[in-house]
Amino acid sequence: MSEPSVEILYEQVRALVPAQPAGPPAELVSVAPGIRVLALRTPTLPPAAHTNVYLVGPDAGPVAVIDPGSPYPEEQAILDQVLARVPPSAILLTHHHGDHVGGAAALAQRWSVPIAAHPATARRLAGRVQVTQSVADGETVSGATAIFTPGHAEGHLCFAIGDATIAGDMVAGIGTILIDPSEGDMAVYLSSLERLLARPPMTLLPAHGPAIRDGHAKLREYLAHRRMRESMVAAALGATPRTLREMVVEAYRDTPRALWPLAERSLLAHLVKLGREQRATDRGDGRWSA
Ligand SMILES: [Zn+2]
Repeated sequence: MSEPSVEILYEQVRALVPAQPAGPPAELVSVAPGIRVLALRTPTLPPAAHTNVYLVGPDAGPVAVIDPGSPYPEEQAILDQVLARVPPSAILLTHHHGDHVGGAAALAQRWSVPIAAHPATARRLAGRVQVTQSVADGETVSGATAIFTPGHAEGHLCFAIGDATIAGDMVAGIGTILIDPSEGDMAVYLSSLERLLARPPMTLLPAHGPAIRDGHAKLREYLAHRRMRESMVAAALGATPRTLREMVVEAYRDTPRALWPLAERSLLAHLVKLGREQRATDRGDGRWSA
């Protein structure tokens, strides 16, 4: 079976879910001390239609540009107008997905600035975007301290700046976070949520949607939701082997039918975790049993 990439899954969902109206052009908004955001239109997972580009640094710059994800020239032009007033010093990437890196190469070239990311992200982007600086857990780049939070993507980083944490795709202010087993790992994602929860209280600044002021409450909600889903997946497993399609009907009965193909990927991510814990058995023919 060929593994669909996250970009292809997002595209499939966009074909099923009606597009949001384009709305007015993005505006630069201050969200925390030394952090401003510009929400640019990107090919992302509906209902989100934008990826937040965060600018970290003083009012007059220079700023680090986090996740310039828009591949669309008219959206990149809006960012360029802002950067003409507030010059960039570097580009930081939370992870390798297209809706986070779509404008990175063009931006790096126009402004002659480095692109910094985790080495695993650099590997995933080889041939598409050239990462020129590797960032490890705990390292501070342009005032932003990297927190290694793999799971949604293997090289995922969050960035802490004072009391705010730029969260990438660890949580979403709009829509959901997909853990796709082709490049994500449910157990690893859950431990990364726990890792963020162990840090001091923070405002979470997600890549999609508005700022989340009580970060800890959101992290606890995400952990509880995934545990609830895991128990529904475990309950859908029995002695008789079942296909993903058969189980999704039960374990994702609260999810709109149109999203079941996507839910099947998430179901599989849960099953892989349960399999490792000896709580599920992969029958090798696309079917699973307890
Ligand atoms: Zn992502």
